Amino acid sequence: MRDAIASPALFVRLTDDVVASGAEAVPVLTPSTGEVLHELPQSSADDVRDAVARARLAQLAWARAGFAERRRVLLAAHDLILERRDLLLDLVQLESGKTRGQAFEEVYQAAGVTRYNALAARHVLGGRRARSGVPTVTTTRVRYRPKGVAGIITPWNYALSLAAMDVIPALAAGCAVVQKADDQGALTILALRRAFIDAGVPEALWAVVAGPSAEVGEALTDEVDYICFTGSTATGRKIGEKAGRRLVGASLELGGKNALLVLDDVDPEHAAASAAHAAFSAMGQLCVSIERMYVDHKVAAPFQRALVGHLREAKLGSALEYDADYGSLASAAQLERVEAHLADAVAKGATVLVGGRHRPDLGPWFFEPTVLTGVTPDMTAYAEETFGAIACLYLVNSDDEAVLAANASDYGLNASVFTRSPSRARRIADALDAGSVNINEGYRGSFSAVAAPMGGIKQSGVGRRNGEMGLLRFVDPVTISSTTGLMQLPRTAAEYTTKVELMVLLARALKAVRRR
Ligand code: NAD
Repeated sequence: MRDAIASPALFVRLTDDVVASGAEAVPVLTPSTGEVLHELPQSSADDVRDAVARARLAQLAWARAGFAERRRVLLAAHDLILERRDLLLDLVQLESGKTRGQAFEEVYQAAGVTRYNALAARHVLGGRRARSGVPTVTTTRVRYRPKGVAGIITPWNYALSLAAMDVIPALAAGCAVVQKADDQGALTILALRRAFIDAGVPEALWAVVAGPSAEVGEALTDEVDYICFTGSTATGRKIGEKAGRRLVGASLELGGKNALLVLDDVDPEHAAASAAHAAFSAMGQLCVSIERMYVDHKVAAPFQRALVGHLREAKLGSALEYDADYGSLASAAQLERVEAHLADAVAKGATVLVGGRHRPDLGPWFFEPTVLTGVTPDMTAYAEETFGAIACLYLVNSDDEAVLAANASDYGLNASVFTRSPSRARRIADALDAGSVNINEGYRGSFSAVAAPMGGIKQSGVGRRNGEMGLLRFVDPVTISSTTGLMQLPRTAAEYTTKVELMVLLARALKAVRRR
């Protein structure tokens, strides 16, 4: 096994960039061994306020720098992400316990998001003319004004790509960022930030704070002009309430209980291999990964056989090379959660089709990818997000039954359908309650489509990241109208008396020429 490029000296250099004035630091453990990886400095509420104040100043110059300069810097950062990929891959793996392949998905995503936002920002936010209400008498333009300082709160599971999907569009739009990193993920975020600083982003424009949510997270949501939150639905609801009280905008990217539908015309081997990846990539600790599989009874036997065979043969590990198929859970808390969902389901009558075992021989938090059948509504794993290592498999008798079952959830983040028929796939995609639907793939089609909106419906979130909507979050449109001087708009009773009929005529003419 190759050694990590990342060393304790590098960890210290990176964590020096956390805005933290005190001496307090907490140990962060690595999932591959459960040992201390590094000590992370902890910020205070005052540190957050300082970071926001400095970001506010830096933002003024960054907004004035203009689209071309920001694009130049962001494209340089794009190249640095790819050049430094081995370091980023090591850090993602060391902090999360993922395989290298799954870590690479994050690096690829971060580069894609950077490229998209660098190249799209001027087109989306460069301002535009709008139709005026009284043609030739007034003209109208819309200008997009950066909101100021965006507060970005990210979880531990996809530290690199989730940070990129919120931070980079904020920077491209001319905003500054103060980011609260989860302790387990901070090194990865700091290394990503370093690439952007080395590319020309001013230090104060992207500040990273770390520390207890109750102090640091709360202080951040009290100070900033816009909040991007990625995490659980319970925390998202609290943050949404606070944003509402402060009357600042928020995008909330929350949990999921994502369904995968296997129709009766699939190649069972192919569908099973893809379903396994969709459910157990990052060991299921991914918001868009699959936790429910609805399989048509006509293909259920070969599909289950193939799924069990694939998962039994899969290699588990967290070596820093492309070696294992599935990795470790990220923490003792995650292991506890998975074991609790499994024990509850089995005690109430569910059957373990494959997996179901803790594997301390591989590392403290390794757990076999587990598929359950016979899961019923009284079991926790039925409707609650497990967020790790467990998928529940149900048999269905028709496409309609599969769609109804998939939609019977409080969540609506991602869904997936496997079929050889493009028309059936499209019909089902239209009927599913989800913010994204992937056909013959689990989640990677929509996740990597960074030019298209990503987000959830129902309890899975509010707002969208990625694409034009992802950029528009960070600006306030300003409508600027001016008079042309060709005609005076009526002001007095006498002026209305002479001009009203003319304006009625104008309104009729505008409708006749279908002018909106
Ligand atoms: P979490 O809600 O516990 O924490 C997320 C982040 O919020 C952490 O950095 C945490 O420190 C911070 N936080 C917690 N309370 C806070 C508060 N009161 N104020 C400010 N910040 C606070 O979630 P988690 O367990 O770390 O992450 C897993 C969850 O995230 C799962 O539900 C998963 O589905 C969801 N998720 C969603 C997406 C998405 O794009 N929709 C992506 C990844 C993860």
